[in-house]
Amino acid sequence: MRTMLKGIAASDGMACGRVYRFVEPDLTIEKRSITNLDYELNRFHQALEAAVSEIETIKTRATKTLGADGAQVFSAHIAMLQDPEVIGAVEAQVTAEHVNAEFALANVAADYEQQLKGLDNNTYMQERTTDLHDVIKRVTAHLLGVKLPNLSLLTEPVVVVTHDLIPSDTVSVDAKYILAFVTDLGGRTSHSSILARSLNIPAVVGTQDATSQLADGATVIVNGTMGNVVNNPSQQEQAAAQQKMRERAANMRRLATLRHHTTTSKDGVGVMLAANMGTASDIPNVLKNGAEAVGLMRTEFLYMDSEQLPTEDEQFAIYKQVVQALAPRPVVIRTLDIGGDKPLPYLKQKPEANPFLGARAIRESLAHQNIFRSQLRALLRASAYGNLRIMFPMIATLDEFRQAKAIYDDERSKLTTEEVPLGKIAVGMMVEVPAAAMLADRFAQEVDFMSIGTNDLIGYTMAADRTNQDVAYLYQPYHPAILRLVDRIITAGHAAGIPVAMCGEMAGDPIAVPLLLGMGLDEFSMGAGAILKTRQLIGQLNAKDLQSLVETALNSASTSQEVITMVQAAVPGVLTQN
Ligand code: PEP
Ligand code: MG
Repeated sequence: MRTMLKGIAASDGMACGRVYRFVEPDLTIEKRSITNLDYELNRFHQALEAAVSEIETIKTRATKTLGADGAQVFSAHIAMLQDPEVIGAVEAQVTAEHVNAEFALANVAADYEQQLKGLDNNTYMQERTTDLHDVIKRVTAHLLGVKLPNLSLLTEPVVVVTHDLIPSDTVSVDAKYILAFVTDLGGRTSHSSILARSLNIPAVVGTQDATSQLADGATVIVNGTMGNVVNNPSQQEQAAAQQKMRERAANMRRLATLRHHTTTSKDGVGVMLAANMGTASDIPNVLKNGAEAVGLMRTEFLYMDSEQLPTEDEQFAIYKQVVQALAPRPVVIRTLDIGGDKPLPYLKQKPEANPFLGARAIRESLAHQNIFRSQLRALLRASAYGNLRIMFPMIATLDEFRQAKAIYDDERSKLTTEEVPLGKIAVGMMVEVPAAAMLADRFAQEVDFMSIGTNDLIGYTMAADRTNQDVAYLYQPYHPAILRLVDRIITAGHAAGIPVAMCGEMAGDPIAVPLLLGMGLDEFSMGAGAILKTRQLIGQLNAKDLQSLVETALNSASTSQEVITMVQAAVPGVLTQN
């Protein structure tokens, strides 16, 4: 039966294909008594082999995206499944107690976990416990005859339907196998949506119940521009969707011709179009999409995709790789923005009632200076290899910026004494807290640049959690209150003679772009997938004419809808995204 699910339009484009449910199956184990021991032991060995072979595949994919070091954890998983002690203990229990293999395996794993708990080294203990859960789950799934989905095991293009998407789910994924994402949770600026956009994959998020409504293998059409999913579409609908996909591919090819161009409005005003990135594996995508700079490298993934704090040397290697590969382009690397919707399990943050208003970003860096210092040292050392800029997230007060800058200066002078070669580094801040936006003129006296983080700035200004789909309607980038804040920051920056960038999602939003150009924004940083479209759009705009649009939007508009209508009247043909 044809049904339609509604969600939030998170990443443009249409896709038609079969559903792959990326949902944890029921792995409940029941104790059974076994009569045919050979059969049971054989079943156990087959499950072990199948699990090892799957982990090998995941490892191969992960090596491509993360490098040999990043994929090392999978070698540890394989070693665990080949450990004669573990295998022997399961066999012994099956044989002695005549119980089913999955039951024996669960008991052996529980014993093993107890032993790990007795270890002194907490970090090691936690890592091994996570590894243990991972591998036991995989073998158990085989024994129970259920599928344990993993995006690294995909071999054909599918529509991935999942509860939510976290960075580690997609880190070793081959984008060519993913036609679209559909999630139960999330909003337009949640990390799953940002990921989808950076991979240029259509996505609908916040559907609430896609995972229970859509069956594995069902045909669906995902419309990431409108935010809906058609389940069991008619032949006609499928043909129309295929046609749309072909047109989109042709348009992408046309846009690709703009790759090596700079970005200039029709009347000759030049701006920088930059990419946001998360890991070194984004480098090819950044280059392919013609970015003139990187306006935001989020460093959280480096910390989140690891099971322990990355060392200074590990970070240095990655930052160096990024600035070197992208040189001479400027690359803005943001210090750790952990907390909020990005917890770091091994940091043992206290549960908070309001994580977005709690210990996150620069607050955590100032509270854990050893972590902050190690990141700054890694960044400073990498600065010799390219054009690096550093920025601090979530700055609310001048005092926070001054403290962070003082720590940076301290590490810089230590490295200078150690005669480590260092490049020239601009040090800036993100403006994403309304208090900082209101005081932008004062900040502008002390920072080298400002970058507007609208994802959080909108959330904090409208008092709406960016990950909560129930309040997603308040996520209004064109709301006059937001526009006034943005304009205020740009004006303050320019009055002090420093450049102002924007690295929130708003920077690549076609309704917002004419307004931002009219306000004089210097750099637009966005998911790489939006760069070429934005370059094309800016090339069609007259920056001078847009100043009167900005005046009217700032002074006469009272609602987002009024602003949208004004932009559409001033620039006919601009798409509405939300
Ligand atoms: C922002 O808040 O706009 C931003 C770019 O940072 P993040 O999305 O990582 O919080
Ligand atoms: Mg932010």
